[in-house]
Amino acid sequence: MTQDTFIIPDFSQLQRLVTANNHPAEVRRALRSDRLDIHGLAALLSPAAEPLLPQLAARSAHITAKRFGRTIQIYAPLYLSNYCINRCAYCGFSAGNRIERRVLTMEEAEQEAMILHGRGFQHILLVAGEAPARLGVDFLAELATRLRNRFAAISIEVQPLAEDEYARLFSAGITSVAVYQETYDRVIYSQVHHSGKKCDFDYRLATPARAAAAGMREVGIGALLGLADWRLEGLAMGLHLAWLRKHYWRTALTVSFPRLRPAEGGFQPLVTVSERMLSQMLFALRIFDPDVGLLLSTREEARFRDGMVGLGPTRYSAGSCTAPGGYAHPELAGEQFSVGDHRSMQEVCADICRRGYDPVRKDWDATFQIKDGGGAMSAAC
Ligand code: SF4
Repeated sequence: MTQDTFIIPDFSQLQRLVTANNHPAEVRRALRSDRLDIHGLAALLSPAAEPLLPQLAARSAHITAKRFGRTIQIYAPLYLSNYCINRCAYCGFSAGNRIERRVLTMEEAEQEAMILHGRGFQHILLVAGEAPARLGVDFLAELATRLRNRFAAISIEVQPLAEDEYARLFSAGITSVAVYQETYDRVIYSQVHHSGKKCDFDYRLATPARAAAAGMREVGIGALLGLADWRLEGLAMGLHLAWLRKHYWRTALTVSFPRLRPAEGGFQPLVTVSERMLSQMLFALRIFDPDVGLLLSTREEARFRDGMVGLGPTRYSAGSCTAPGGYAHPELAGEQFSVGDHRSMQEVCADICRRGYDPVRKDWDATFQIKDGGGAMSAAC
C-alpha cells in the first residue's frame, strides 16, 4: 500500500515562499549550505539568484562530479503507440488531433528495440499515449519479458497504473517509471487538460508513489515547462522529490525538465522558459538534492545540451524518434513533438567524450536487485 499522500501547496503559497527568500543574502546562504531546506531552494529559484547563475552552475557542477563522476547516462525512447484517449492542449497525440494513428504489434516493437540495440543502446524508455484498450499492461509485460535479457534497463512512460500493475511490470523486467505531472498548478492543469482520465490531478500526483511502493528501482517526475511559472514548478518538484525521498528511500529518483516543443495542434507556450531559466531551475534542484538524476532530453538543442555537460544533468536521450515505428521507418508521420537535437547516439557520445566525460550505456545490473519471494524488490518501509 502507498503511505499517506503527497499534497502540493497552492501556487499562491509557493509564490509567497519565493518572495520571502528573494534576497541575495538568502541565495548566498543557500550556496554555502551543505543541506538545503525548502527555503534555500526557494532562494535559488528566486529572481535574486539570477545574477549569481555562474555560482549556481559551479556549485551544481561540483556536487554532480562528486556524486556521479564524469559521466552522462544515455538512453533512447521507443514509441509504441500514439493513440490517446486524453485531450491535452499541448500534445501532438491529443485525441482531438488528426494525425496518423498507429500502435505497434509485438513483433514491430521488438524490431524497433533491436534497431536501438544494434545502435548500441542499453537503456530504452517505452513510451505510449494513454489508451489502455489499445496498449495495456499485458502488452508491456510481454514486451519486457522478451527484451529484458537484451537491455540493461527498460523504463516506461505510459498511462498511470495501479500499484499491483507496476509490481507485475517490475517482475517482467521493467525497472523504472516516469510520470510527469505536466504542471503542479491545479488551475493551469485544469485549463490544459480538456477531457480524459488525465483530468484527475490527484490521481496523477499520487502515481510516482504507487510506482515506488510497487518496488520500482527508479521513479521519475517532471513538469512540462511552458505551462506555469517555472520558479514555482521548480519548488513544487523539490517538495515532491523530498516527500518521495522520505517515504521511499530505497527508490532512485529522477527529475526531467521537458520544455514545450512545436507539435500538432499548434499549442503555444503559456509562459516563456528560456535556456537561462531552465539552467537556474536545474542547478537549484541539483544543489537541493545531490543524489537525484537529472534528465535533459532531445527536446533541447545540441548546443545547449553540450554546454550543460558536467554542470548538473546526468542523463541524455539521443538519436530520438517520437513517432511509433519511426526507427525502422523514418518516413512515418505521427510524432508527439519535433525534437531539437537531431544528432545520432554516436555523435552525442563523441561530443560528450570531447568534453572529457564518459557516456554510460549501462550503469547497473539486475543481479544487484534486492529480491523478495515474489521476485520484486521489497516495497519501501
Ligand atoms: S500528453 Fe500524454 S495523455 Fe496527453 S495527449 Fe499526449 S500522450 Fe495523451
